[in-house]
Amino acid sequence: MIPDDVIEQVRDAADLVGIIGEHVQLRRTGADYRGPCPFHGGTHRNFAVIPKKGMFYCYVCHEAGDVFTFFMKKLGMDYPTAVREVARRVGVTIPERAGPSGPDPREPLFAAVATAADWFARQLRETADAEHARKYLESRHVTMEQAQVAGLGFAPRGTAFLDAMKGLGLREEVLLEAGLIAKREDGSKAPRFRGRLLFPIHDLRSRVVAFSGRILGEGEPKYLNSPETPIFHKGQLLYNLHTAKHGMRKAERAILVEGQFDVLRLALAGLEEVVAPLGTGLTDDQAALLQRHTPHVILLYDSDDAGLRATFRAGDVLLRHKLRVSVATLPEGEDPDTLVQNKGAPALEQALKDSVDVLERKIQILERKGFFGSLPGRRRALDRLLPTIRAAADPITKDLYISRVAEVAGIRKDVLQREVDPKETVTATYRPLPPATAALPSNAEKSLILLMMAGEPWRARVTDAVDAEEFEYPIYLALFEALADDAPERLDETAARAYETLQAEGLGAEQPDIIFERAVNRLEARRLDREIERINRAIPFATEAEKATLAQDKLRLAAERNAKRPTYGIIQSARRKGAPGS
Ligand SMILES: [Zn+2]
Repeated sequence: MIPDDVIEQVRDAADLVGIIGEHVQLRRTGADYRGPCPFHGGTHRNFAVIPKKGMFYCYVCHEAGDVFTFFMKKLGMDYPTAVREVARRVGVTIPERAGPSGPDPREPLFAAVATAADWFARQLRETADAEHARKYLESRHVTMEQAQVAGLGFAPRGTAFLDAMKGLGLREEVLLEAGLIAKREDGSKAPRFRGRLLFPIHDLRSRVVAFSGRILGEGEPKYLNSPETPIFHKGQLLYNLHTAKHGMRKAERAILVEGQFDVLRLALAGLEEVVAPLGTGLTDDQAALLQRHTPHVILLYDSDDAGLRATFRAGDVLLRHKLRVSVATLPEGEDPDTLVQNKGAPALEQALKDSVDVLERKIQILERKGFFGSLPGRRRALDRLLPTIRAAADPITKDLYISRVAEVAGIRKDVLQREVDPKETVTATYRPLPPATAALPSNAEKSLILLMMAGEPWRARVTDAVDAEEFEYPIYLALFEALADDAPERLDETAARAYETLQAEGLGAEQPDIIFERAVNRLEARRLDREIERINRAIPFATEAEKATLAQDKLRLAAERNAKRPTYGIIQSARRKGAPGS
């Protein structure tokens, strides 16, 4: 097999317009080239070559692809031959096959997914069933032509898909392995995607490997991805990277957004360097992938609390891969899609221009919430900033971060340096996981995990209400993070076993609403307790004037805390012998 990076190099070097121009009379129209389609033998200029995206597309017969696909479809070459032919033209030498490596055994899966993609796209264009999908796109101001270039499709309800694929000669085993159909409990097969608008997901070679299906109307989940298959590992791909990588090199930045629609909207607004994770938090593999193509990532997520949490989580992952990370902030209530829709591309460009470093953004938010106004607040702020400082793998960035945080929190740089030092953090924050056989403690943390496992709306309600920092028990913390990102496959063995135990245990008979409120209140009370303890520790070092303020803070916090657990206060204070403030 030819290595992926060689294939990419060949594709990048190929003169798409020149090569296709040998077979088609092309004329420039704006940024694209148009000519009569060589596939359906058209006479009008419906065939477009789009150099910016490295692809061709026919608006009549819908043939589409890149330079390699062109050779395959026009001259009947297989994939490796097409790559070698283009490589020869651009002067790249491809090492001869070593050893007995035959054709890629995954080839049938690629073919099945490609066939499905064509079929789904045709459903979206032509069938009456897809009327509500077309209406939906119209309501989001995406034209049919734009949808087609993006390769969108529609998966109807019922078994039409299965019948069509069988009619095209695809075997059930292949469809199963490609994640296009699923086995029901009674042994019968059903299409995985039903009644959804489909976004094709491409690998770096621009082959469709999976789909992300958005539900139309009400229902859960909102987005459904293909399962993991031999050709699709969602943690190792980014949506739209196959075209965005060209734009990233030119713009020297990547823009990371939350969803497929945001990507589509920004691409239509003329931004090429836009990618999205695939419905989960950003993974290390995805960050490494970005790092290969760009030194700088701008995070453009929603500005609500959930969006901010996702922003900072992604920011830490990117910092670990030595990327420069900025955060663009959208006006209240807007997401990237609505912003371009309502205020146009210039408003978006302004937001990108105004983006600030991820640590600076964290500081801004803490400042706005008044964290730096009091001594315990400063300590809490520091706790929020430390993970970002520690995540910075680039030594210069880390040093700048330490200086900046020392300045804003009013502490000495060497003191902060010591706190950042990983040798200290091992003992300070990381505790070894308890053995798998240890019983899972019954507490508020456990209740929240059980709620999240019950699915929506509880998963969203819990992630909105509490931060990861609030979890003290390491296994519950691991479960919280995995569930918040909808990525239970990331759990290590111990946590995965705990997951199964909890799943078997279930939520119990009590009202979820009551469980939720009690658990959130308990965590909030615990946080307030910690703040009170911090004040107690600070008092001996404070001046007389500060002491008065601290005493007031303490009273206020104690009242707040008592309100959080009106009925449990007595038990708690008895259990917490000598707890401060009680
Ligand atoms: Zn055509």
